[in-house]
Amino acid sequence: MNSHQLFRRSRARLALWYAGVMAVILSLSGLSLYRSLIQSNWAAMEREIKSIAGTLHDSLEPMLPTSGKPTAVLRRILPELCVAQQPCNVSPTLIQRHTTGISDRNTYYIRLFSHQGKLLAFSPNQPRGISTTFNSAPWQTFRSSNGIRYHQFTIILHSHYASHSAQVHRSKSSWGYLQIGRTLENFDAEVKRMQWILAVGFSIALGLVALSSWWLSGLAMQPIYQSYQQQQQFTANAAHELRSPLASLLATVEAILRVPHSNQQDISTMLQTVERQGRRLSHLVADLLLLTRLEQNSSPTSCESCCLNDIINDLTEEFLELATMAEIHLVNQLPHEHIYVSGNESQLYRLVSNLIANAIQYTPRGGHVMIDLTRRDRLACIAVKDTGIGMDAKEHTRIFERFYRVDSDRCRETGGTGLGLALVQAIAQKHHAQLEVESHLGSGSTFTLKIPVSSVTQKLS
Ligand code: ADP
Repeated sequence: MNSHQLFRRSRARLALWYAGVMAVILSLSGLSLYRSLIQSNWAAMEREIKSIAGTLHDSLEPMLPTSGKPTAVLRRILPELCVAQQPCNVSPTLIQRHTTGISDRNTYYIRLFSHQGKLLAFSPNQPRGISTTFNSAPWQTFRSSNGIRYHQFTIILHSHYASHSAQVHRSKSSWGYLQIGRTLENFDAEVKRMQWILAVGFSIALGLVALSSWWLSGLAMQPIYQSYQQQQQFTANAAHELRSPLASLLATVEAILRVPHSNQQDISTMLQTVERQGRRLSHLVADLLLLTRLEQNSSPTSCESCCLNDIINDLTEEFLELATMAEIHLVNQLPHEHIYVSGNESQLYRLVSNLIANAIQYTPRGGHVMIDLTRRDRLACIAVKDTGIGMDAKEHTRIFERFYRVDSDRCRETGGTGLGLALVQAIAQKHHAQLEVESHLGSGSTFTLKIPVSSVTQKLS
């Protein structure tokens, strides 16, 4: 599988996981919202039924007949109800009166039962096919013969007389039962509407989540893909850099083997070439290793107090000969006070040495290289200035890439590997330092390192 396919597959897998998790979260929150809406509507409806039942109960109780055959009295006090086993042609006004302003008038019905559970009276709009057998459960939900659901509440009625004589005749305290119910047609329609909204909303949201998760997973994969490509580029560059000295080394060794043993002078010249190529290879491998270690953050950096004045003085002395040979004027400018930073001394040596070596390398004969050390508050500033060839502004960030060399310099035999500034930047980052470059083509460059001054010795991360 090639890398492109691998990344596409990982992206798809990431998008699927993301969409799956979002779908679960969405459906759980949608379901809880749905349930809580249904429950609150249901509770509000029950409260309304109870309150109408209470009002009816309070108005009915004082008027209830006390004895045996209540139908005649009921017909008188409740003319709006149909009396059981008698022709019914009244309009349901009682229930209308009590529910006016509360809810739809035709929504409610009432039924009256004797305390033995015999149906006495009922509203004409009671559910079709409803059973006449009494059920004492306080709340009931049932379906009528035409498929409409109803919810019904049952409350006990006490007659005025019965409650007075309750202490004497406890068994007679209950006169009968009042049942009040309502159709759930509107409620069910509302539930269906909610289900529709949820189903459509969920599908749209899921579609949007799928699209956004594909886009987001693309964003998440981007840095990984870039780093993978950089890694591949690095491997290719490293292989390329190793190939040239290796090929030249092999060619020299082959030539030595072919030269007759008597010609010692030629052999020693060729062996010097082998040594030079071997050293170049060894430097390249060492630089690569150091760079990898610095970037992997694997090796613990030993931390010590390093005097920048000493480092700069030592390096100036070290490079003086090279600069003189190249006819370059190399000087340093140091403050009176000693400036200390906390870090790895050999790495700091390497950093400044790379900057000075570059400055000498890219400055023509007769030029100047100056190393300047100053202190600005909590920062020590090392500036390596040269009057060399400089570089275009577009190169300022690229020169820190591994193996990058500015084109115009390639023709020169600098012998550089293109790892020098990458190492400088890696060491600077390791020391929490900032590296700045100011350079113009043909008018020299200044590399400035700003590194925190140490007060107490601390461990570097
Ligand atoms: P190299 O080993 O080739 O010098 P570096 O990483 O040290 O690699 O530098 C990268 C590129 O930056 C060089 O090829 C060179 O063109 C440019 N460069 C670095 N330092 C200077 C400088 N002081 N003046 C001009 N160009 C420079």
